[in-house]
Amino acid sequence: MKQAGLAKRVGTDIGALGGEFALIERIAAGIKTRDDDLLVGIGDDAAVLRVSGGKRCVVTTDMLFEDVHFRLAWTDAYRLGWKAVAVNLSDIAAMGAQPTFTFVAVALRADSSVCFVEELYRGMRDACAQYGSVVAGGDTNVSPTGTVINVTQMGEVKQRHTILRRDAAPGDRILVTGALGNAAAGLALLEAEGRASAEMISPLAVEAQLRPTPRVFEGRAAARAGGVTAMMDVSDGLLGDLRKLCRSSRVGARVRGECVPVGEAARAAAAHLNADADRWALYGGEDYALLMTVAPDRADAVRAEIEEKTGTPVSVIGEITADAEVALVREDGTCEPVRRGWDHFAGTNGAH
Ligand SMILES: [Mg+2]
Repeated sequence: MKQAGLAKRVGTDIGALGGEFALIERIAAGIKTRDDDLLVGIGDDAAVLRVSGGKRCVVTTDMLFEDVHFRLAWTDAYRLGWKAVAVNLSDIAAMGAQPTFTFVAVALRADSSVCFVEELYRGMRDACAQYGSVVAGGDTNVSPTGTVINVTQMGEVKQRHTILRRDAAPGDRILVTGALGNAAAGLALLEAEGRASAEMISPLAVEAQLRPTPRVFEGRAAARAGGVTAMMDVSDGLLGDLRKLCRSSRVGARVRGECVPVGEAARAAAAHLNADADRWALYGGEDYALLMTVAPDRADAVRAEIEEKTGTPVSVIGEITADAEVALVREDGTCEPVRRGWDHFAGTNGAH
């Protein structure tokens, strides 16, 4: 996410190591990460645990820092609470799972009002209720600096419906839910215009940025449809996240640029700011769409089933290849390799 600044300052040494993902690999190498009942550990959208009855328990956690992931000048407590839960629900959705329980740890500024805290938890509660989860516990503390919110989200899924990142195969079609770029457009508007003007220019783009929709119903429908080989949520940008999926599956991908669905709000905001909506759709983060790969003979059926069950449009944007490269193919046939997406420690979107 790109409201960084702090990440840049703390990230010099970690940036030199190779960034966030190199850091995660280093942490994983240094601690016990194997257990018979831990079926999938670090490296996917959520961990997968074996529980009794043929089901899987999936668990994910995500931390939001003031002035890194959100600014209180741009959002309000209700939408902040919603988003803190929604980004975690999105990771549960990416496993094909149903959210179950939510745990919330919050460090509040000493000057936080009771009203702020109540609104924060109302946003969390509404996000949970919308998608069938329950706040089951947590912790509250005082922060000497900014607000910090950590949400741990659990979910459950039948063994046969569990979708990981690592099983995409050459020839699979690449599908994505909804339209992309609106959240990045909202962020660009907030940065350029401030909250009041941004809300007037495009309330939809601002809403996409501040109160994202986790694709829980779409993820469930995808998993049940059959034929989905890999899935993840798009938090750090379509092409950067596709690279991660491909890396997990040891495959490559070709994305047809003209097939990537660009949000109407992104187009409108781009016209206002003289910016590039296509670039937001390809590289901008925080859309929380679901990105999935589907066996070629099931692609049309999976798309139809998700659309019919949820009303969310689904687009086929390309296919998985046997080589290790992720490339964007433009309408004129030119091919651009995709190097990387957003990295919290590098403080950059390296996709230039
Ligand atoms: Mg994810």
